[in-house]
Amino acid sequence: MDKKTESSARNESLCPCKSTRAYGECCGPYHSNKKKPETAEQLMRSRYSAYFFRKYNYLVETTHPDSRSNDLKKSISKANTGVGWSFLKVLGTSKGGRNDKSGKVEFVAEYYVNGEIFEMHECSRFRKFQSTWKYLDDRG
Ligand SMILES: [Zn+2]
Repeated sequence: MDKKTESSARNESLCPCKSTRAYGECCGPYHSNKKKPETAEQLMRSRYSAYFFRKYNYLVETTHPDSRSNDLKKSISKANTGVGWSFLKVLGTSKGGRNDKSGKVEFVAEYYVNGEIFEMHECSRFRKFQSTWKYLDDRG
């Protein structure tokens, strides 16, 4: 497939964040910077999809400057090497709406390494920076 066919096929297929919507109508526009997530949950989902597609620049950009270490991109890509992401379920949210300045999203993500399945249960904290949602940390 050429690059264009490949990206339109991706846009039409289901979004990895398990929203049951097409990628091109879900996390895709955030990854291509056409839209900004309006809620903390949208940002969380788009970050999961960014791990899935290995869009490390997006993960760095959507990390709050207070949590953005110099070697963040390197450490994310290292931690994600050999990791396949297979499932996401959002368990609950607290604040994180359009008019909030902070919020939390609790979720379970499933991933596999060398054919073995693992589960990650996290409550992420999000905070707005210059009116845009950013990931703060996992200490929610
Ligand atoms: Zn999505």
